[in-house]
Amino acid sequence: MAGEFQIISKIRERARPGERVAVGIGDDAAVISRNGSADLLACCDLMIEGIHFRLDWMPTDAIGRKALAVTLSDVAAMGGVPKFAMVSIALPRASSSEFASEVMRGVIEMSEASGVSLVGGDTSGSPGALFIDTSVIGECASGRAVTRAGARPGDRVFVTGSLGASMLGLNLLQGGHRLDQFMKDGAGESGDNMILRALRRHIFPEPRLKEGSLIGQASVASAMIDISDGLSSDLSHILQESRCGAVVNANALPVAACAKTLASSGMKIDPLNLALHGGEEYELLFTVPQKESDRLIELSRDFDEPVTMIGEIVERPGLYLDRDGALEVLDPSGYEHQI
Ligand code: ADP
Ligand code: MG
Repeated sequence: MAGEFQIISKIRERARPGERVAVGIGDDAAVISRNGSADLLACCDLMIEGIHFRLDWMPTDAIGRKALAVTLSDVAAMGGVPKFAMVSIALPRASSSEFASEVMRGVIEMSEASGVSLVGGDTSGSPGALFIDTSVIGECASGRAVTRAGARPGDRVFVTGSLGASMLGLNLLQGGHRLDQFMKDGAGESGDNMILRALRRHIFPEPRLKEGSLIGQASVASAMIDISDGLSSDLSHILQESRCGAVVNANALPVAACAKTLASSGMKIDPLNLALHGGEEYELLFTVPQKESDRLIELSRDFDEPVTMIGEIVERPGLYLDRDGALEVLDPSGYEHQI
């Protein structure tokens, strides 16, 4: 058995990037340069029933929404603006044409909401599971894509939004909770409402398109990635590509309110652990040179989501967690497919 990252690294060694490939395999999206006009950003993501989701976990249209959302998030993570999408689906033999329409309704609604044109795809039968693969083409100003490779010692580490709710939502789904059990009005800030929030967060992720494109346009970040595998893993990807280390301040982490509330009401969960290692958050994790930090704070007034400074890039390789002044090694233990 091999890990996903080991397989990708072998493919990367063998595939020589050709002319005009400014960034090839190894980032959130490839960057293709075009003689001075806007660079193209290209990426794709595969979602498979039984691996990434279960049909009884989410409304059918949410499968299509999420499949496109996670690929749009990769364009945001390069500081770009998504423009075009293509979607391939392989439908289980027993499924109806209404099922396919529902999946694609979700894709189309997400594409309309994000200003992206659906321009093609492919449709096939599947001997078993539902497969859905989304490709997105985006743009950013020439030479301005924010890669994983530009972080430098002294840079501050920032994250948008809050962390931990998506993984909590996944754990709740695995434990038998379902969205429709909680779809009632007037739940207020009760435990039920917090469970609903976590489920929604996992089922309906929102790519941070506005924040990503503003960060890209302002050239304020030295490196960026979206949190798909988990903060510890995704920050480690930045550190690996940038050849440096980082210290994350445990007390500064924007832990999702639903995780904190449910933990304090007795649910056996560890909110800090969820925030450090939980995947599928689709928040943006980025580094900013210290002298640009004020400009980032100013820029963030136009964000829909808050930004939080969670740590600092250091010269010493490795990822460390600062817990009340005591440093401990933080192992990247987010999600990795095993094949
Ligand atoms: P993300 O989580 O941002 O979607 P991944 O970890 O899936 O990123 O992929 C990391 C990099 O590896 C990306 O550049 C992606 O395009 C590339 N990659 C993944 N699988 C393959 C493959 N089978 N062939 C070529 N490139 C791949
Ligand atoms: Mg990504």
